[in-house]
Amino acid sequence: MGAGNAALCAAISAREAGITVLVLERGPEQKRGGNSYFTDGAIRFAYNDIRDIRKLIPLLSDEEADKIVMPEYSTRDYYEDIMRVTGGKSTPALANHVVSESYNTISWMKEHGVEFELNYNNQSYEKDGQFHFWGGLPVKTKNIGMGLMTTLFSRAKELGVDIWYESRAIELKTENGRISSVLVEQNDQTIEVSVSSCVLACGSFEGNKQMRAEEIGEEWEAAIVRGTEYNTGDGLTMALALGAQKNGEWSGCHSIGTDYNAPKVGDFTKPGDIFKKHSYPLSIMLNKEGERFVDEGADFRNYTYAKYGREILKQPGHVAYQIYDQQVRPMLRKEYNLKEATYYQADTLEELVEKLPVNKKAFLNTISAYNDALEEGYYNPTVKDGKSTKGITPPKTNWALPIEEGPFYAFPVTCGITFSFGGVSVNTDGEVLNKNREPIAGLFAAGEMVGGIFYENYPGGSGLMSGAVFGKTAGISAARYVESKNTNIPS
Ligand SMILES: Cc1cc2nc3c(=O)[nH]c(=O)nc-3n(C[C@H](O)[C@H](O)[C@H](O)COP(=O)(O)OP(=O)(O)OC[C@H]3O[C@@H](n4cnc5c(N)ncnc54)[C@H](O)[C@@H]3O)c2cc1C
Repeated sequence: MGAGNAALCAAISAREAGITVLVLERGPEQKRGGNSYFTDGAIRFAYNDIRDIRKLIPLLSDEEADKIVMPEYSTRDYYEDIMRVTGGKSTPALANHVVSESYNTISWMKEHGVEFELNYNNQSYEKDGQFHFWGGLPVKTKNIGMGLMTTLFSRAKELGVDIWYESRAIELKTENGRISSVLVEQNDQTIEVSVSSCVLACGSFEGNKQMRAEEIGEEWEAAIVRGTEYNTGDGLTMALALGAQKNGEWSGCHSIGTDYNAPKVGDFTKPGDIFKKHSYPLSIMLNKEGERFVDEGADFRNYTYAKYGREILKQPGHVAYQIYDQQVRPMLRKEYNLKEATYYQADTLEELVEKLPVNKKAFLNTISAYNDALEEGYYNPTVKDGKSTKGITPPKTNWALPIEEGPFYAFPVTCGITFSFGGVSVNTDGEVLNKNREPIAGLFAAGEMVGGIFYENYPGGSGLMSGAVFGKTAGISAARYVESKNTNIPS
């Protein structure tokens, strides 16, 4: 159920294993693909060296490969990254399943037509004519999330998978403890579809204001939804109604600082991660009261952006302003130059602040106190340069340049939720477990619905990989289950 990355990987693997597959998708065809459609296609997997990468990108020439420095990213590195960013809370067996199946799964995706390319822009730097990749995330899907989903949809169609759009699953039914049918809302009617098994891959509840407020915290009602509007927790609700065990951090989610005027829910006509504003380590961020509230330069953005999204949500009016001057403006990431970017610009700081709906006096005082607190040091945005402030709270511990050269810029940001971490318990066969940790016969889950892998944060690119690994696994398990029942009813 669902037609995102996890669901289509499940559909393809189940079909490949020989069973009949029907995909139910809540959205209309023009809004298909779920959160997966909105991604930048960054996908994390374990590899030994450039040879493993070249198997996935066969068009990479010898000449290009010779200019690449690609350090190994082992299964151990991947596992440790998951454990590090989740504070050691990730369930070892589930994290290990994602990691150990990651290369097999990405190779399987390639066999099914998904194309990949190197992520030079975000994951490499050039030195002496060589491109050095870092961070264990060198590959993205060609034409980002749109490309991934277009390929998966056409592959599913080629294999004879049937997809019903505008078909919202609302209830699962069982007979003798086994999944037997699904109630589906289509237009104004409810129909019952008989099934032998069911893979739930309907996302978590990030698109549901009420559930966000109840589960994560009241202020989360105001968060912008960065992806699909349709992930409102239906899959979780249906599974819990059958006795599934909740798992994972229901009070947690991934979120970032995003353009204050980004659409309230993801706009399928403007996919791609275009509203994020990730150059803030080079800025100072002030709230409406004119106060700084985080150490913008505490670390590289990879390590702070998820938690700073949450901090922005806590500020009055859920807004903050990233302030830059002309010396820094040319260094900002490409999303700052898109026509969608909202910003204010003025030749002097006084004129800039005049344009903002903020406490103007406090705003100017904070900028001036920051400028007065700067320590000497060598500024270098490619390393943690230690160029910092002294005597102000919070400090800025790296990349602290004076804000002094006009024109000046203010980029308003708010918090955008990526996905919530609440899910259900599954085992490494993708079977959904009840409160006694026994499989619910015929029920499987994949993607965001799998609880217990991500807590507090996730290593970028692991959302797609977790969906692909558990999708593929759940599809195979569902096929085995159906075969073991020796039926051929649609699953
Ligand atoms: C802007 C953005 C950028 C991101 N970038 C990356 C990235 O580069 N790399 C990465 O790894 N992760 C990224 N992520 C996270 C990633 O998108 C998710 O982890 C992953 O795509 C989730 O896949 P999924 O298949 O579980 O869910 P989805 O892709 O969201 O699919 C769920 C589907 O279920 C459908 N559905 C919901 N309820 C029902 C129902 N009742 N009946 C039928 N269908 C239903 C929805 O309409 C949707 O199509 C990003 C997320 C966002 C929002």
